[in-house]
Amino acid sequence: MPTVTMVGGGQLARMTHQAAIALGQRLRVLAERADDPAAQVSPDVVFGSHADPVALRRAAVGSHALTFDHEHVPTEHLEALVAEGVNVQPPPAALRYAQDKLAMRTKLAELGLPVPAFTAVATAADAERFGDEHGWPVVLKAIRGGYDGRGVWMPAEADEARTVVGEQRARGVPLLAEARVAWVRELSAMVARSPFGQAATWPVVETVQRNGQCAVVLAPAPGLSEELAARAETLALHLAAELGVVGVMAVELFETADGELLVNELAMRPHNSGHWGMDGARTGQFEQHLRAVLDYPLGDTTPLAPVTVMANILGAPAAPAMAMDERLHHLFARLPEAKVHLYGKGERPDRKIGHVNILGDDVAVVREQAERAAHWMSHAVWTDGWDPHE
Ligand code: ADP
Repeated sequence: MPTVTMVGGGQLARMTHQAAIALGQRLRVLAERADDPAAQVSPDVVFGSHADPVALRRAAVGSHALTFDHEHVPTEHLEALVAEGVNVQPPPAALRYAQDKLAMRTKLAELGLPVPAFTAVATAADAERFGDEHGWPVVLKAIRGGYDGRGVWMPAEADEARTVVGEQRARGVPLLAEARVAWVRELSAMVARSPFGQAATWPVVETVQRNGQCAVVLAPAPGLSEELAARAETLALHLAAELGVVGVMAVELFETADGELLVNELAMRPHNSGHWGMDGARTGQFEQHLRAVLDYPLGDTTPLAPVTVMANILGAPAAPAMAMDERLHHLFARLPEAKVHLYGKGERPDRKIGHVNILGDDVAVVREQAERAAHWMSHAVWTDGWDPHE
């Protein structure tokens, strides 16, 4: 049975490992530390940095495919591995568009796909001109390396923009500017594609961000018209084929008040917006990613309930005195329907340490339960004041 190497030892690799077990495969991870989420559970860990070509090569040797739990591996290292015969999936030529926001915006614009107005920012004057033309606040983004809203700034006027550009240039961080979109909500269209060219989508979901990071996912996106859902899924399929993506890809979208969709961001790996499918779809994203990178036929993505809500367990401002295990015990006592996924990470404020999935019929009810469960798991406080001893 095949071995798949995943670069990065985070929770995405940990949950991919879970899927690999069921398929009789081995997931080797390239991790930095023994207590990384995936290194804790995989018997096949190569220690080293994703930026070190020697470590990458050691992790790749003898595996059937090399894939990623984040997009930070330098393209030139991946191209060297491909030249040595390593099966890198997604291929570096596709992955590039998930690594470099300017290349992604430029490529999508070339393909005629809807993106916010954007420009490269070499100097503060570029940002100022763009803001004056497209309106303030303007959005400034690090072209590479941003995640969970780190690397996104929204200066309200020219002075503030000059400060951001000055600070980031001093750190050697290249920036782009884009128009701030007055979106009504954010959506994610997930797709998987195999080298053979087979592709499958999941229902389009709504993602709810707090402090720039994903907090809740509603699957499917409530009240999304069939027309818009089809447009989003078609866009994701089209993009996956055009870019030559292999594996899963999340296409993060803005939905505007007048029913337009704009592409915000691409992730070519399992993504937070797909966690609901671990319990809520016949085939979840982690299994699908493995099937895709190994060129197996893809799995059925049909949802198992009318509604699945995923709520992230985000570290509280101060870790509660009650142990995680006891919190889990109480959660299960109150909400037997809650499916909990913990990542084995230490608790730090706002850190993603796990998630809860709940399936049901009524999105308002299920969302309330899932958010209450996730808040309980991180804070040891029931948001509705429930007391098990009363
Ligand atoms: P990251 O790669 O750090 O996740 P994103 O580009 O996805 O950064 O931006 C993070 C969040 O910032 C988005 O989810 C969205 O809420 C907001 N955002 C980003 N770009 C824009 C934009 N052009 N207009 C309005 N909001 C935006």
